[in-house]
Amino acid sequence: MGIDTGFWTDDRILELRLRFEAGESYQKIADAMGCTKNAALAKAKRLGFDDRRSSPEVLKPKRHPIEFPPVSRCQWPIGDPGEEGFRFCGDAAKTERPYCAKHCAIAYVRPPDPASKKAA
Ligand SMILES: [Zn+2]
Repeated sequence: MGIDTGFWTDDRILELRLRFEAGESYQKIADAMGCTKNAALAKAKRLGFDDRRSSPEVLKPKRHPIEFPPVSRCQWPIGDPGEEGFRFCGDAAKTERPYCAKHCAIAYVRPPDPASKKAA
């Protein structure tokens, strides 16, 4: 195992994480910490840091649990799920639809009908 068992002390792991979260490249992290780029990358992957960078929604701290409205209510999200004030529309939904009439109109935009184009 070599470098992976001896090199990665708790302090170094913390430094790796902090540098990673600061957005430093693996090369920069490796240079600063005195290991190879591959070693930094492999460690970050093993610890799951790398996954977090590739999926921004996991990076965003969830400050409040998202409560979905009942199924009979409009599920249209309003705002950014990571931001304060995010909510769902919650108006009465149309039958068989997850959204209210207003949001159905936005969600289900009809593609232009090729038949009517031909006729025109
Ligand atoms: Zn709605």
